[in-house]
Amino acid sequence: MSRKLIVGNWKMNGSLASNDALVRELLEGIGQPACDVALCPPGIYVAQLQNLLAGSPIELGVQNVSMNENGAYTGDVSAEMLKDYGVRYAIVGHSERRQHQAENDVHVALKAKRALAAGITPIVCVGETLRERESGMTEFIVKRQLSAVIHLNGHCISEIVVAYEPVWAIGTGQTATPLQAQNVHAVLRAQIKAATEHADRVRILYGGSMNAANAGELLSQPDIDGGLIGGASLKSADFLKIIAAAR
Ligand code: PEP
Repeated sequence: MSRKLIVGNWKMNGSLASNDALVRELLEGIGQPACDVALCPPGIYVAQLQNLLAGSPIELGVQNVSMNENGAYTGDVSAEMLKDYGVRYAIVGHSERRQHQAENDVHVALKAKRALAAGITPIVCVGETLRERESGMTEFIVKRQLSAVIHLNGHCISEIVVAYEPVWAIGTGQTATPLQAQNVHAVLRAQIKAATEHADRVRILYGGSMNAANAGELLSQPDIDGGLIGGASLKSADFLKIIAAAR
């Protein structure tokens, strides 16, 4: 199994000044991490973060990528453009985009494909809503969402990162228990195993109110290979503790 991966999703937060301060605090405290680490700032700050992170152990990610290659797509940013700025990861299909930007499994697959074609690793988010969990549909929903990216023409599922993010746990302070999360991760791992002999290479991250206090137990589950962190990635002390727990 590869190193764990901890990714900070800043969502639509930050400013030139606050980004600068946050990254400097992280770089002061990070040392030589035992896991891979990436930060996903809002797209407008990618150049700033590229400069701040140069030569550091923290890699650069983004929160979204266009499903189109180039041309008349007002407001979009292509995978190739992101690659120009040294972007290594792109979050794709975050539940906030599925909910507010009407992204569906087809869009998610196209975006993942564009990212891969540019040499950017997509972090594909899957997860059920509270209503879906309560009606016993969790497994069906996450399998359907993952199946959209499991056979991308010319690419192997082992090239992507998967993030299990129960929608009811995102930004709510209501974390999935380690067992709840592990159970879903095991379902996803089995689905990936059925598609590739390289299933153990695929990192499956947990996301949903992961914080400094609960990270250790979540990250010690056998099929949890890292974390996608929203709120707690905006506080350097908390994010550094989560990084330290990922070994
Ligand atoms: C996220 O934005 O992907 C996320 C998991 O947010 P939070 O950690 O704030 O729940």
